[in-house]
Amino acid sequence: MDTYVIATNNAHKLQEIRDILETDRRRFISMKEAGIATDPEETGTTFEENALIKARAACAASGLPALADDSGLEVDALNGEPGIRSARYCQGSDQDRVDFLLSKLENVPAEQRGAQFVSAIACVWPDGTEFAIRGICRGEILTENHGTGGFGYDPVFWVPEEKESFSSMPQERKNQISHRANALARTKEELEKRGL
Ligand code: IMP
Repeated sequence: MDTYVIATNNAHKLQEIRDILETDRRRFISMKEAGIATDPEETGTTFEENALIKARAACAASGLPALADDSGLEVDALNGEPGIRSARYCQGSDQDRVDFLLSKLENVPAEQRGAQFVSAIACVWPDGTEFAIRGICRGEILTENHGTGGFGYDPVFWVPEEKESFSSMPQERKNQISHRANALARTKEELEKRGL
């Protein structure tokens, strides 16, 4: 049985990662369970680099294989903004950041409001082996909130195939089609390809 530490203290992410990746060969523990606390500066210029920075720090602190994720929203009409700056696009609440995004897209017509959520998952082993994998979910940015669930930019992220926003669809459905679900499914394939 291999034990991996997940470089997050977010209980929701921890559960999502366990649901998808845990088998009788591998288990996942939180940083708290591993008795470590790391919060490295995210100095990377891509989601993959930042996920690797977090996973390397957790691996070094625990001596265990580590997994980390980094995610955000890329808006086509804003050349990929807010990207890796999604969590700190502007000061204030999640709704303040949604409003700031909508103000930047005020004059952008419906057919040019394409966007994608991106999640990079990095795995790092004590012997220096590492990989990072990206998952995306495409959608469109609405002009106002639709739905009340979720977090972050969920209320304005519309998924045409579902006829729902990330906020209005059931959480279970979001967890099947999200950028993170996509990246985790590909991570599972990669681990299995490596016989892990
Ligand atoms: P982090 O990877 O948890 O640091 O997330 C970065 C930021 O991207 C969050 O603070 C949100 O603003 C945004 N984000 C990432 N994933 C999602 C999502 O599933 N829904 C809404 N916003 C998200």
